[in-house]
Amino acid sequence: MTDTIAALASGRPPAALAVIRLSGPAAFAAVAALAGRVPPPRRMSLCRLHHDGALLDEALVAVFPGPNSASGEDLAEFHLHGGPAVVSGVLAALTAHPGIRLAEPGEYTRRAFANGRMDLAQVEGLADLVAAETASQRDQALALAGGALGRLADSWRERCLDILAEAEAGLDFAEDEADVAERLDEAAREQLLAMASELDQLLADSARAARIRDGLTIVVTGPPNVGKSSLVNALAMRDAAIVTPIAGTTRDAIEVPVDLGGIAAVLIDTAGLRDTDDPVEAEGIARARQRAARADLVISVASADAPHWPAPAPVPPKTLMLLNKCDLALPVLPAGALSVSASTGAGMATLRDWLTNFARQATRPGEPALLAHARHRAAFADAHAALVDAAHAPEPVLRAESLRIAAHAFARVAGRIGVDDVLDRIFSRFCIGK
Ligand code: GDP
Repeated sequence: MTDTIAALASGRPPAALAVIRLSGPAAFAAVAALAGRVPPPRRMSLCRLHHDGALLDEALVAVFPGPNSASGEDLAEFHLHGGPAVVSGVLAALTAHPGIRLAEPGEYTRRAFANGRMDLAQVEGLADLVAAETASQRDQALALAGGALGRLADSWRERCLDILAEAEAGLDFAEDEADVAERLDEAAREQLLAMASELDQLLADSARAARIRDGLTIVVTGPPNVGKSSLVNALAMRDAAIVTPIAGTTRDAIEVPVDLGGIAAVLIDTAGLRDTDDPVEAEGIARARQRAARADLVISVASADAPHWPAPAPVPPKTLMLLNKCDLALPVLPAGALSVSASTGAGMATLRDWLTNFARQATRPGEPALLAHARHRAAFADAHAALVDAAHAPEPVLRAESLRIAAHAFARVAGRIGVDDVLDRIFSRFCIGK
């Protein structure tokens, strides 16, 4: 028989409230043992919870009978006062009940997946939702958790299966109907190529989806002492990077998350890019150059008292020229450059607006962006390759085989098949109680 699992689902006590969840066949018996009754389903009831003759708490209790519960099993929630002794007392009382143990991380969600309450892409969306720090990450995660990608992949799978049915019907044509078979063949080829090009566009847009989920990478480069660390701190509104008047203090790349108008970005404060004999500093500089080459944006900083713009990289990403220390001097700015003072704050609002605008253009947050996970992109890319193979297949048997491969790849997205090896990794992202 399945174990019944119990865990604290809310934050660490003490807190105003604490929520303990209980899922499995013994859930309602345990509720009855603590509360003296099983309250009516799907609504909060005020209950006095007792164990071994002691009152543990007066709390709100809700029960959700399976299979139409979040986990697909009998599920109960205790909304307790959030004191450590209340929480530990209720958990101890529950786990003293036969068949009840503490839950592993992600175990409720794993049961929801196993019981068909969620598909795997929804599970990944839920993990993203719990981790979301910005509004656009939240919107993207909500769409994924709501099942949008599973539905999209399923609709593609259906299209593959429809053409497969036609291809299989084509296999039965007799020799004298060869011209009919040929016409069907041509129609199928065109349809498959059209589908492949649609998928191509979806895949091409996946970099944008990944940028929304993982955050834009913005690298701050420039010679030592121009104020890169001061700028990063001013943008992040906290002291994340070390600021000193001694050149070469930032030896490693420091990553600072920032929220640009609801879009996540990571500012990377790089080691001062200069010639050096110090091997540690040289390593920092090499890393900075590597990060800069992969960034979505490079902010190239110069100082107003001695403006010197570093030579652009051979294949540069988009670069913003920024002149810092404009409180000391204000030389003529190159076209498109901005001037600020990290010390006085002058120009910082304009810089922030510029960056927010850049982030909006790079992510277009209003548009759906579902292919943010490498696992989903890989499945769609495999399906794309199989559709191209199917379009160019020299004979119907091979076409049918490629279509089966494409349908299979789409089925992986929702976790219907071929995902056993990724499940542990996906569920390990969850905390206990989720
Ligand atoms: P980094 O080496 O480029 O990261 O530069 P830092 O951020 O460590 O700054 C180097 C020095 O310049 C420090 O003494 C800062 O206080 C100073 N500094 C930074 N920004 C400004 C600014 O806007 N105006 C002035 N006057 N000094 C600044």
